[in-house]
Amino acid sequence: MATPTDFLVLGGGIIGLAVARELRRRHPDQQVTLVEKESSVGQHASGRNSGVLHAGFYYSADSLKARFCRDGNKALREYILSRKLSLNPCGKLVVARSAADLPQLDELQRRAIRNGVALESVTAAEARTIEPRVKTFERALWSPNTATADPAQVIAAFREDAEREGIQVRTGSPYLGRTQGQPGVVRTGAGEFAPGYVVNCAGLYADRVALDFGFSQNYRILPFKGLYLYSDEPAGAFRTNIYPVPDLRNPFLGVHFTVTVDGHAKIGPTAIPAFWREQYTGFDRFQAAEFAEIVWRDLGLFVSAGFDFRRLAVEELRKYSRAHLVKLAGELATNVDLAHYHHWGKPGIRAQLMQIHTRKLEMDFVLEGDAKSLHVLNAVSPAWTCSLPFAAHVCDRIAELTA
Ligand SMILES: Cc1cc2nc3c(=O)[nH]c(=O)nc-3n(C[C@H](O)[C@H](O)[C@H](O)COP(=O)(O)OP(=O)(O)OC[C@H]3O[C@@H](n4cnc5c(N)ncnc54)[C@H](O)[C@@H]3O)c2cc1C
Repeated sequence: MATPTDFLVLGGGIIGLAVARELRRRHPDQQVTLVEKESSVGQHASGRNSGVLHAGFYYSADSLKARFCRDGNKALREYILSRKLSLNPCGKLVVARSAADLPQLDELQRRAIRNGVALESVTAAEARTIEPRVKTFERALWSPNTATADPAQVIAAFREDAEREGIQVRTGSPYLGRTQGQPGVVRTGAGEFAPGYVVNCAGLYADRVALDFGFSQNYRILPFKGLYLYSDEPAGAFRTNIYPVPDLRNPFLGVHFTVTVDGHAKIGPTAIPAFWREQYTGFDRFQAAEFAEIVWRDLGLFVSAGFDFRRLAVEELRKYSRAHLVKLAGELATNVDLAHYHHWGKPGIRAQLMQIHTRKLEMDFVLEGDAKSLHVLNAVSPAWTCSLPFAAHVCDRIAELTA
């Protein structure tokens, strides 16, 4: 006999937990259950990201990312402070490597104004008073509201709060599929559930789960691996995050310096095409069917993509070289010495959504659903920063779809 629950949330990353908590807040008398396939929450992107609370100036004003990033930065910062978790309010400099980068700095500034985000244009000399080691051409942008936190700490606090609020969090319990002949019944490692509503927040597997419910027909997730290289310089060697101007045509921000919550510096992350969804190290979690499909899709992108995938892939694959990664970071700061960069951190994998027919990488968050289920697709960066307003938006959509 399937266990009834009003809401069944699939996936215990930051989005699944934030959605479960928001559902519980809006429906205090209803049962919310969350199933997570791993033995603990946050084992994938939500526990393996840069931990940067982005400010919200990269995204065009009409996007969901722009709407949620500014508010998410504020909301997550308040949550972190109220829970007495670690926060490094170190800000961020966005630098120009040459005159060619200056128009992009101007575009970011325009986006910041449209999105209502604080971002200040500073001269190279002013930038050096903020971060003595920064290199920039003529000027830079200073974002005072960018900060860093510890993603593992944050997700552990989300889980604690969720359970205290009465949400059933079932770890080690994968979603397995829908029961044949009983479309309302969902099979999981924790037994069968008969949910009133299903919310799919399964990250790297969100497209697969969505297909079972008749969604994500036009999309597939492509995994991109993010590697980090840690500096062994003492805490405080860098005062602030330093980013290059990004290529706004692709969804990745380029190799940058992140100052971690404890004051150490790391460079990365890369965005190297991965060949199966959870390809963290070696042949770990190898899936032959995924490998075949992803290689086939990557080859398709290589031949004809809606953007310059060939250049991106070649450039990213070169970043497996420590020397190359350090050389790129050396364009952003002085005295960046290969001798300090030996330790690779835990990699993370981005669940990047691609439109199958146009071979375009989706830049914004995507939601698909109906009166029975909602599917969160493309919860890529900065979804960690956006998680709280994003969850409210998911719950608004559920309310509309079930009205
Ligand atoms: C390298 C990297 C750096 C990043 N840096 C930043 C940053 O600095 N700032 C920022 O805001 N964002 C950043 N991001 C993005 C951010 O981490 C993600 O957008 C966010 O964590 C997505 O959360 P999620 O809950 O959707 O996914 P996930 O954290 O991947 O959670 C999905 C969960 O679903 C579970 N699951 C999958 N299949 C099943 C199944 N069948 N049954 C049950 N459970 C299942 C998984 O085990 C997983 O726990 C970064 C991402 C990466 C990869």
